[in-house]
Amino acid sequence: MTYNIAIDGPAGAGKSTIARRVAKELSFIYVDTGAMYRAIALFLLRSQTEAREEKVAEVLPEIRVSIRYRDGEQQVLLNGENVSGLIRTEEVGNMASRAAALPCVREKLLDLQRELARTHDVVMDGRDIGTRVLPHAQLKIYLTASADTRALRRFRELEQKGQDCDIEKIKKDIIWRDEQDMNRAVAPLVQAKDAVYLDTSDMTIDEVTEKIKSLCR
Ligand code: C5P
Repeated sequence: MTYNIAIDGPAGAGKSTIARRVAKELSFIYVDTGAMYRAIALFLLRSQTEAREEKVAEVLPEIRVSIRYRDGEQQVLLNGENVSGLIRTEEVGNMASRAAALPCVREKLLDLQRELARTHDVVMDGRDIGTRVLPHAQLKIYLTASADTRALRRFRELEQKGQDCDIEKIKKDIIWRDEQDMNRAVAPLVQAKDAVYLDTSDMTIDEVTEKIKSLCR
């Protein structure tokens, strides 16, 4: 049987940084499910498809999302193209949030996510991992931080990548995305009943990593 750690939480809470780090230290694989939604969003933006159930359902059969690992890093492929470098923009993130509210999109990604967890020890992050994708995960974490802290972290991340950004706009996007992700009808972002709540506003990456590893032990 595999060991699964589910990490959920709002945008910019540091899920991917922490999940990647914990996975590395435990020799698990890190599965970034947001990247899968972002890959679909990129397809929709490129094809100018409206984020409506009937429109998206029509083009979904043309979309193949897969992942592979290179030097321990997850790459996400959209119809065979490595799009990992193209999906980390606010535009794609906002479209991902719209697309993720559609049942047909969530259904499409569910099997891929579950299959990865069935066959590997994983740290998987997203919005509905503990509640829906892996309800039997051995450890569930709900990771969050204040909106200001999250906006600042996202700002620094984008700045480091050389992207032009404005912190007020990022904060607005984060709050909009929280609203959207927490209030949608299907698989909304909520803390699973058996998840450990971790507010990382005043914690370092090392402290959060250690905390999760000790919970795991
Ligand atoms: O985590 P990330 O910001 O990359 O996710 C982009 C969007 O994808 C989120 O705002 C959310 O709407 C959606 N998502 C989701 N379920 C997941 C992972 C991501 O709905 N498991």
